[in-house]
Amino acid sequence: MKAVFVTDFGGIDKLRYEDLPRPTLGDGQALVKIHASGVNYIDIYYRTGLYPAPPPVVLGMEGAGVVESVAAGVTRVQPGDRVAYAMARGSYAEYAAVPAWQLIKIPTLMDFKSAAASMLQGMTGHYLTHSTYPLKPGDTCLVHAAAGGAGRWIAAAAKIRGARVIGTTSTPEKAVAARDAGCDEVIIYTESDFEYETKKLTQGKGVDVVYDSVGAETWEKSLNSLRPRGMMVTFGNASGPVPPFPPLLLNQKGSLFLTRPTLAHYCANREELEWRARDIFQWVGEGKFKLHIDKVYSFAEAGKAHTDLASRKTTGKLLLTP
Ligand code: NDP
Repeated sequence: MKAVFVTDFGGIDKLRYEDLPRPTLGDGQALVKIHASGVNYIDIYYRTGLYPAPPPVVLGMEGAGVVESVAAGVTRVQPGDRVAYAMARGSYAEYAAVPAWQLIKIPTLMDFKSAAASMLQGMTGHYLTHSTYPLKPGDTCLVHAAAGGAGRWIAAAAKIRGARVIGTTSTPEKAVAARDAGCDEVIIYTESDFEYETKKLTQGKGVDVVYDSVGAETWEKSLNSLRPRGMMVTFGNASGPVPPFPPLLLNQKGSLFLTRPTLAHYCANREELEWRARDIFQWVGEGKFKLHIDKVYSFAEAGKAHTDLASRKTTGKLLLTP
């Protein structure tokens, strides 16, 4: 089968689009014929080696397709089922072996592209707003990169929770996309100081929670944008990982709470996975979340997709297809 993988880590020149053997099924797994694969920032971290994995590393943490076969004893899905999943690596390939418990059946009226575009970033928006810091009416949150793949979902999910949503984006065009996703206010953080603007928008009080996927560049000002005892949720490294810091800093900034979550730990069992997947598919079906697929690339164009994502050119979702 054709697959996109790396054997040594680095830039997009390290990506290989070549034949690999079809994955063999381990216990509890199903083989999925991939129809659409989601592009996520995490794929860049696996490509560069920021997130280590033993080579060859077939990229891609999100896919939608049809079950081809199942390992002995697997009953949750069967060949022919239309399924989608997130957080099992290897979706930039014609076939992926996925733990069957992680597979969600795609709603009848939803196509493969929409399903692949929803799973990882949608469930991220869900767990951050429903579980990591469960927002409630009256809360205010700050969402960085609010026009991005994950950012649009977080903004929408936060509105569904009844919170006030302040977003940040790098351009006025992206600000429109962020507002469309649900942001009440948008700060263009490349033009104005988001800490100052956030304080102004909250009458000096600060927000209850910051959802920060930008990392190194926004870290300090994000802490400064929180109310005392607010929660800093640092969940990504788009500008580089947050550098080491002394815990005393959290005291000095107002007895803050800090967490560094990942989706895998918030879809820890079938019940949680089904809850989040059911909600996000329902939001798409009811129009509470407007899916925006920015661009669809072929597997051979994976490097171009990574370059576009990392150069801040995109809004919403990028997909690859075999
Ligand atoms: P996005 O579509 O959000 O793209 C990244 C965005 O980050 C850019 O569009 C840009 O928005 C912003 N950005 C700010 N600074 C930089 C920079 N120096 N270089 C590049 N981009 C920058 O990507 P994803 O939705 O795939 O992922 C967003 C983030 O969320 C990533 O950090 C990812 O790791 C994280 N994530 C974490 C998960 C978790 O569970 N921990 C799950 C899913 C995603 P702008 O131009 O508006 O500044």
